[in-house]
This record gives sequence, C-alpha cells and structure tokens, in this order.
Amino acid sequence: MNFTYHLPTKIFFGSTCIADNIVEFSFWGMRPLIVTGRSSAKTSGALADVETVLKQLGMEWSLFDRIEENPSFATVEDGGAAARAHDADMIIGIGGGSALDAAKAIAVLAVNEIPARKLFDGNFPAQPLPVIAIPLTAGTGSEVTQYSILTDTERQTKRSFASRALFPKAAFLDARYTQSLSRTITINTAIDALSHAVEGYLSRRSTAMSDHLAIDAIRHFSGMFNALGRDSLTLAEREELLYVSLLGGMVIAQTGTTMIHSLGYSLTYFRHIPHGRANGLLLAEALRFMQPAAPGKIASVLAALEIPDIDTLKKTLSSLLGPEQPWTREELHTFPEIALQAANIANTPRIPDQNDLKTILAASC
Ligand code: NAP
Ligand code: FE
Repeated sequence: MNFTYHLPTKIFFGSTCIADNIVEFSFWGMRPLIVTGRSSAKTSGALADVETVLKQLGMEWSLFDRIEENPSFATVEDGGAAARAHDADMIIGIGGGSALDAAKAIAVLAVNEIPARKLFDGNFPAQPLPVIAIPLTAGTGSEVTQYSILTDTERQTKRSFASRALFPKAAFLDARYTQSLSRTITINTAIDALSHAVEGYLSRRSTAMSDHLAIDAIRHFSGMFNALGRDSLTLAEREELLYVSLLGGMVIAQTGTTMIHSLGYSLTYFRHIPHGRANGLLLAEALRFMQPAAPGKIASVLAALEIPDIDTLKKTLSSLLGPEQPWTREELHTFPEIALQAANIANTPRIPDQNDLKTILAASC
C-alpha cells in the first residue's frame, strides 16, 4: 500500500451545525463576502442562518448573489472586484456546486487581479482568501474539494482548475437546506454524487483510503433508489444523500473523475443538460466500456448498489432521469473530440479513443 491522503477542510455535519459552531466563523476573517446564486441561499434558509451568526460576531459582510449555473469567467471576475471593493478578508460560499466553485475562484481573484482564464495556468502569486463552504445541493461535494469548475467559452467546454489552497477551511452540511430542492434537481445532483463515488473508485488514482470512502458512499446510495423515485424525501433521506455527496467529494479530491465527467461537460456546454443528469446518462454505458479493464471493481460497485448487472443499472437510472433527445451526427462527432482534451480522461481505467466515446454516447440516451 502506498498513498497520500490530504483533506484540510474541517467538516461540520448535521442539523443546526452553523448555529452550533459560531466560533468557527471567527477564525478566518471579519469582513466576509458571501457568494451565492440568485435565490436558493434565501429560499433554503441558509443565508439567514449565516447572517445571524455574522451579526452575533459583529462582522461586516457584503452579498454577491449573482452566480449562475455553470459559472462564467465574467461572473467570477465581477465577484473578485466585489471582494476588493468590500475589502473582504474571507469568502463564504452558499449554494450548489456552481456557487461553491465560483466562491473558490473569487477567493483567488480577490487578491490576484488577473483575468479568470489565467486561473487555469495555476499561477497566482497571492494566496487565495479563506473559503467557508455551505452546500445546498447533495451534490457535487465541492465543499471538500480543491477544484473549481468554470465555463470556458473560448474552448467551448467546462474546465476545472485545482490548487490545494482552494480546499475550503470549513464546510457546514445541514440537510435541512436541501429540502427546498425540486425533485428533478434532487435526482440530478444525487446522481452526480453517485458518479463521483463510482468514478473515484474506478480511477487509476484510487487508493485504499479512497476506495473505502467510495464503497461506503455507494452502499449508502443504494438505499436511496426508492426514495428518489418518490415525490418527496424525508429529512433523514436527504441527510443520507448529503452524506453520499460529502463522501463523493472526499473521494474525487484524491482520485479525480474519469471519462464520464470529461464527456458530460460537452452535454452541459452544448445541450444545457444539468451536470448530474449528464453523468447519469453516460454512467451505465461507460461502466460497460470499462468492465474489461476493471471487472472486479465493477462487480463490487454493482454489489454495493444491490443491482445485478449493468443493464438493470441502466434501466434504474433511466427511470429516474427520463428520456433524452437522440444525439445528432454532429454531436456524436464533436462531443467525443472535445472530451478527449479533458485532463480527467487519463484517470479512466480503460482509456477510450474518439470512436469508443462515440459508441458510448450513441448508446446513452
Ligand atoms: P448548481 O448549478 O449549483 O445549481 C443548480 C440549480 O439548483 C440552481 O438553479 C440553484 O439555484 C438551485 N438550487 C441549489 N440549491 C438549492 C436549494 N437548496 N433549493 C432550491 N434550489 C436550489 O447545481 P450543482 O449540481 O450543485 O452544481 C453543478 C456545478 O458544480 C457544475 O458547474 C459542476 O461542474 C460543478 N461540480 C464541481 C465539483 C467540484 O469538486 N468542485 C464536482 C462536481 C461538479 P440558485 O441559482 O438560486 O442557487
Ligand atoms: Fe460532478
């Protein structure tokens, strides 16, 4: 056994974890910029809980609530300017993966006046501001990863940049905030979390530690198939999903994702298919392709899911996700071509070529 395991984020999990741990907010600064999407921080109740804490601590905060889904360079550059205008010394991200990833980018841009596209060079001289992350989806696990994923219109894809300085200092996971999620977003984001655990487990960079977390995540997810098929979930079920999402994030922080995410980015960029749904559409056919290279691990994934075979997994995922419009000839050509340029493709246990990706995509709708 030979591995490293690095997770510098302090995790607080459970209902009322923000109000119960006020002092944690005081360690990182006194002038936070709160980074959120347009409405979910308010409707979920998370923003009010954070503001109560900041008031009690006598902090002066400013709110930047303009993060869109799949955040753009322009938005995070505006966020960096807003942080400087407020003289912010910390960033509090509240939201789904989009707001949390934007919060990380803004933490860098606040103290490095560079165009957002330069973030991908990994060359920012000043250390980013500390980030506190409060996820509202269960989900991306971004609250415990060193990644930030932005939309690159020049390259016509989504791209990830990574730095160990981007790990949030603290993450507060309270499943009550996910109760305001629609059924569709609940399903899409839950499948993203599953995909992280499965991809991380199969990744060439997986380790004994990450495998342990991944299998636990997949087992917890298996009990959720029925719940996700219903119209509403209990708080206990939402807590399960948030736990899966947390574990999934802890896994990919060590292992990265694989070709499922690489190809999924094109589905989101060109077709506006939500991130988790994109991964879910591809998952079963990607497993079929990877099977010859990792038969034992894929058997373990299916066993942990309590699903007999890949065909049954495909049917189960399809019944949750619903149908997708068939891909055009041009999409079947372009999406694989772009996916092959993504760095995470190299983590896949069986490296696909463009034709392989085309076959996987064609069978995935
Ligand atoms: P999202 O894009 O953050 O949010 C999707 C939608 O859900 C938004 O309209 C948002 O509203 C709404 N929403 C979020 N939480 C809600 C709540 N509690 N109640 C009601 N509505 C809510 O979705 P996501 O799937 O969490 O994040 C996807 C992004 O994360 C993608 O860009 C993906 O590439 C990235 N990602 C990052 C990592 C990582 O490690 N950093 C890993 C995987 C994926 P508002 O706009 O009002 O907030
Ligand atoms: Fe993801």
